[in-house]
Amino acid sequence: MSQRFFTQTSQDLVYLDANATTPVLPRIADVVSHTMRVCFGNPSSSHITGVQAKYLLEQTRAKARQVIGAKQGDILFTSGATEGIQTAVVSTLLAKRHLATSNSVLLYGATEHKAVPNTLKHWNDVLGLGAQVLAIPVDENGLLDEQFIAEHVGRALMICTMAVNNETGVYQNLQQLEQVIREHNKDVSWMVDCVQALGKQALALSDTTIDYAPFSGHKLYAPKGIGFLYIRENSPYTPFIAGGGQESGMRSGTENLPGIAGLYELFDLLLDKTSDVFKPVETLHGYRQQLITALENTFGDITFNAPLSGTVPTTLNFCVNSLTSKEVMDLFDAAGIRVSGGSACSSGASRSFVLDAMNASDWQSENAIRMSFGPAATEQDIALACERICALKPVLANNCLIVSDAAQPEHEVCALGLTQLRHQGSCCWLYVAPNNDAVIIDPVVELVPRLVRLVSQQQLHVKAVLETHKHQDKDSARALLSTRLSLADNGDELGWPGAPISLGAQTLARIATPGHSADSHSYVLRHGEHVTACFCGDLFIFSGLGSTQFEDADTVQMAESIRTLAATLSDDSVICPAHDYEQCFALTWSAQLQATPLVQQLLNEQVSDQEFVAQKAKMDEQLITDCGALCGFSLVAKQENAQQLTVEQVQQMLEDEQHPTMVLDVREPYEHGAKDIRSLFNVNDGQLLNVPLSRLANAFFSHQLSPQTRYVLICRTGNRSGQAINNLKSLGFDNVYNLQGGLALV
Ligand code: PLP
Repeated sequence: MSQRFFTQTSQDLVYLDANATTPVLPRIADVVSHTMRVCFGNPSSSHITGVQAKYLLEQTRAKARQVIGAKQGDILFTSGATEGIQTAVVSTLLAKRHLATSNSVLLYGATEHKAVPNTLKHWNDVLGLGAQVLAIPVDENGLLDEQFIAEHVGRALMICTMAVNNETGVYQNLQQLEQVIREHNKDVSWMVDCVQALGKQALALSDTTIDYAPFSGHKLYAPKGIGFLYIRENSPYTPFIAGGGQESGMRSGTENLPGIAGLYELFDLLLDKTSDVFKPVETLHGYRQQLITALENTFGDITFNAPLSGTVPTTLNFCVNSLTSKEVMDLFDAAGIRVSGGSACSSGASRSFVLDAMNASDWQSENAIRMSFGPAATEQDIALACERICALKPVLANNCLIVSDAAQPEHEVCALGLTQLRHQGSCCWLYVAPNNDAVIIDPVVELVPRLVRLVSQQQLHVKAVLETHKHQDKDSARALLSTRLSLADNGDELGWPGAPISLGAQTLARIATPGHSADSHSYVLRHGEHVTACFCGDLFIFSGLGSTQFEDADTVQMAESIRTLAATLSDDSVICPAHDYEQCFALTWSAQLQATPLVQQLLNEQVSDQEFVAQKAKMDEQLITDCGALCGFSLVAKQENAQQLTVEQVQQMLEDEQHPTMVLDVREPYEHGAKDIRSLFNVNDGQLLNVPLSRLANAFFSHQLSPQTRYVLICRTGNRSGQAINNLKSLGFDNVYNLQGGLALV
């Protein structure tokens, strides 16, 4: 299975997400494989095969002691750090149960991996301890507040801290922490999560009073499913898994000998002074500096979210000041560079709780990128990573994502024609004529920086910034944008200059279309008499109608406005509303009519204005409440399931000369430009089109797509292409297919 789908070789891939997991080093994989095939015995068996397995197990334990400096105490093999954390917490809480009062606390660092606070809370509840689970604050450098510890550790049953943070690489001063902790409570159980410290920092655990230290193999080139736990001599211990009595009864279950053999090889490498697999700290610092230089060269303005001097050299946490983390991640992913946004273990989260705890700004917390490499990285790995990062510079410049000193960017990949810019459910439209004259309609505050960048990068002459009405659900961005673009504001309160605006061969006129609000207008773009696009504000929502629930709304006026527009529009006029709640992207007037039977009935005089008012009120009531959307409702038909194709099927289709087939990449141009994908499908330039979702409206506007052609849509995961297929189907494109799982599975 994996051979078929996941063919990207490690040579193609720049993997900079080592804090999430690492690939298994080939020599470790060899030892694991050998153990599975040859030295496969059960350490509990008394025959020679078992004895050999037991020997390997104990040799690995001895090496673990050396690696972490544990002369005394126990080393227990576990499935990973999470199990180690459970074991430490359960052991402590069971032993200290009798001491728990309502005044007791369980302390953990505010930037700890979620496995720690969640385990504390879980077992505190399950065991009914009723202790308070309290986060120890950190300062802006990520360092634990020692004052706070001094104040609270006296009543703590357990304190959990970490050696190195997985998101930022910030390391704590364990000696200093020990002093504070032991000065105020010599008996408290102290767990230090050492997962991200192994191989990056020297450890001498038995010289400390640390009670428990969990480790994980997959963070340092060993397989997933193996880890180990250090337990200080005489610290509380209760077996977390009971059964056959393996591991001297401390953790039952047949040992994961292949994983343990992987650790053996890893420890061997870590201890071998003659090996150059693991790089010295100075070399790693040099690697990180090379990456920083490449990032600054490519993106310009970057903020580092943790001080470089207080972090291990294998981690960089930063924000590109002008790009969202989503943009950076999509760009890196498309270029075959794997990084992570915040913590990979909580990748659904839109903020970083670690950066929040460090009191970072909203922008930093929402847009952090973590770049991490392992201590076995090579000069070549880092050189390739820097080369790939630097190769993104022209891609960014050509797509207006950074202001650069590059040559004039290509119009084709930028804003010529019609572009939809979205923020949540709101849409702003930009129309650029071939002579660079432009209008911006219904700007959104959050999109102002991007619009300003687009205008300056493309050297657009913005003739007007317009609003279709005063939007009731958001602040007007018109004044802000006009100021940022240094435009003379000589229009009315919606920005209209009073006369039609000439935009190359087209003209933009305004029509009053009250209904959603008394001041609602539509702007129609005409080529001669033919309306090519209609910016209708909230009169129409894609496949629906604007709300008439506001104070100055009037449904009878809306009916009249619909008739006015219907008399003006052509079947192929592109509808450009101010909202797109259902991810429709683009519709033509004929498709819009088909999707809204009530509008058809009104225009065919099958319903009177009164009936229209009554039915509209019912729909507003139901649909707007159901959808939680403020400005209107959509009646989008149930999504049809697009036919999913494998790469091989796509290739066959492309070879079929009877039916012209195109590959349609719906990712943004900066993703499309980040890596040449023609060879994946054996296509030539003529068979590959890039129409991002933001430019689907333009594709209809410029008649770029034809229902007679077959299209195979692709994107990163198959999600955006699925949305575009729904859109195309509602516009009468029947021969549209999706690449199964997107490029991620190719
Ligand atoms: N602690 C830290 C600091 C980590 O980075 C991780 C993994 O992301 C864990 C604990 C959990 O480790 P495991 O995946 O071995 O359960």
